[in-house]
Amino acid sequence: MNDCIFCKIIDGTIPSIKVYEDEHVYAFMDITPLAKGHTLLIPKQHVKDLFDMPSELAGHLYSVAPSIANAIKTAFNPKGLNTLNNNGAAAYQSVFHYHLHFIPRYEEDGLTLVWEPIKPEMAEVQQAATAIADALNA
Ligand code: AMP
Ligand code: ZN
Repeated sequence: MNDCIFCKIIDGTIPSIKVYEDEHVYAFMDITPLAKGHTLLIPKQHVKDLFDMPSELAGHLYSVAPSIANAIKTAFNPKGLNTLNNNGAAAYQSVFHYHLHFIPRYEEDGLTLVWEPIKPEMAEVQQAATAIADALNA
């Protein structure tokens, strides 16, 4: 996809700071990091988001994920690490080429996760589970 900035990173038209590459995936430093070591892992193939990701490619990408996480851990000894993948503008996706964020966590960093749980009846939870299971089996 010609106007995709991450495709341009893959083909070298836009510069990036690489940390890992193989035949199918590429990892590089986020240009506006939330914390020291904030890294992105992307497929080389243009895939818009998780919904569009072929299972085999997802399998390979996630097979690389522990190595990236452990390399960040070795390099910076963070207190923890969040992986984050935004799918769709409503979920804060701003670059529409799949990417998995690796965000190491320190005492003072730029990431705040505000969770405000809904309080459904168990019947609603069961209905939701049935809808998902039915879709998986369809
Ligand atoms: P998201 O909001 O999940 O789509 O995140 C997109 C991420 O891509 C943001 O964290 C940006 O800082 C990052 N980003 C955008 N352009 C570049 C670039 N040229 N090089 C590295 N990271 C980038
Ligand atoms: Zn792309």
